[in-house]
Amino acid sequence: MRLILLGAPGSGKGTIAKMLVEKYSIVQISTGDILRGAVAAGTPVGREAEAYMKRGDLVPDSVIMGIMEERLGEPDCAPGFILDGFPRTIPQAEALGGLLEKLSLKLDAVCNLDVPEEVIIKRLTGRRTCSNPSCQAIFNLDGKAPKKEGVCDSCGSPLVQRDDEKEDVVRSRLATYAGKTAPLIGFYDRKGLLMTVSGRESKPLFEEIVKKLGA
Ligand code: ADP
Ligand code: ZN
Repeated sequence: MRLILLGAPGSGKGTIAKMLVEKYSIVQISTGDILRGAVAAGTPVGREAEAYMKRGDLVPDSVIMGIMEERLGEPDCAPGFILDGFPRTIPQAEALGGLLEKLSLKLDAVCNLDVPEEVIIKRLTGRRTCSNPSCQAIFNLDGKAPKKEGVCDSCGSPLVQRDDEKEDVVRSRLATYAGKTAPLIGFYDRKGLLMTVSGRESKPLFEEIVKKLGA
């Protein structure tokens, strides 16, 4: 199974990707996770990406395509994969098309998560992450709140709000999504690959995807 998950930041892409990984025994490829890892490790890619990410801007397509070319060629991708947070622009989608062709691979579907914007804003600005790098537990003031305000339930370290989860940055990330990523919905619809599921909670969205995939 080879899937793309499309959805605004905060639509639950990461959560749903993990459920699909279990269901279909495929790997999740998250460009956001790869980039955060590169920033933490201080690699050349990480140093190039860091400033864009802090502002909530997209990292240049050339950097992203370098990462993906390497990643999709790794052996664990052979049984299938789910792309989470990639492609994010039409040029990335076009480059992905060329890359898949080169690898003789075809996509099964592009799942578009349609989640109301007010749900997304509440979710993103309410997110708090454990500041301990070896824990990184995630809480949410709207739902999964920590037992004690500002403190990690798992390890007791202080919780922080990621720079890119502050309200003004969240709004600009959503504007970037609307301008640069939402056009992919039409792009993949024209290729006959698009499947849209609507809702608020990740579990029912996941179940709807599985039903539509019919596998
Ligand atoms: P979210 O989906 O919540 O915005 P991600 O974890 O997918 O967050 O990405 C975090 C940041 O990493 C993005 O705001 C962007 O700066 C960068 N990024 C991730 N994937 C891409 C991509 N495919 N193209 C450009 N930038 C990306
Ligand atoms: Zn912790």
